[in-house]
Amino acid sequence: MVQIATLYESGGGNEILRQKWLLRKIKNITSNLGRVVDQTESAVDRLLNEVDRNLTLSRQILGTKHRYLLLNHEKDLNWERIRSKALSRREDDCPICMEKVDLTTNNNTVSLLSCSHVFHKNCIESFEDFNIYELLLCPLCRNPYQKRPFHDSCCC
Ligand SMILES: [Zn+2]
Ligand SMILES: [Zn+2]
Repeated sequence: MVQIATLYESGGGNEILRQKWLLRKIKNITSNLGRVVDQTESAVDRLLNEVDRNLTLSRQILGTKHRYLLLNHEKDLNWERIRSKALSRREDDCPICMEKVDLTTNNNTVSLLSCSHVFHKNCIESFEDFNIYELLLCPLCRNPYQKRPFHDSCCC
């Protein structure tokens, strides 16, 4: 209400002066708005930077954890058992291309992952090429894995 009173008193009833006064007010408000927008933008920038930093951090932590897991994992891997598990499932489709995998001939076209899932060598290699993460996860069960040619897994 004070503002409205000031508005009416300004320019002493002179229409032009009152308009000038109004214009000045509007300019002030606009530049204030501009400042608020600037501040908001830098806050958003800060937030995005923070998100970026956290992502990098968790990626690093994940990477370390993953390497640690793999090291532990590698020691305990019993490829013969993994291979029998794969055989006992009696699934002979490659989950990537849905074509048959040949588990009987030793022609080095089949890869066995440590999670016991079986893929065409070419299919899992293309999958790995497309993988943008540091971590390689089995396309089927999402576990980190080691990989062997299917027919090598019986003699280690
Ligand atoms: Zn395949
Ligand atoms: Zn798997």
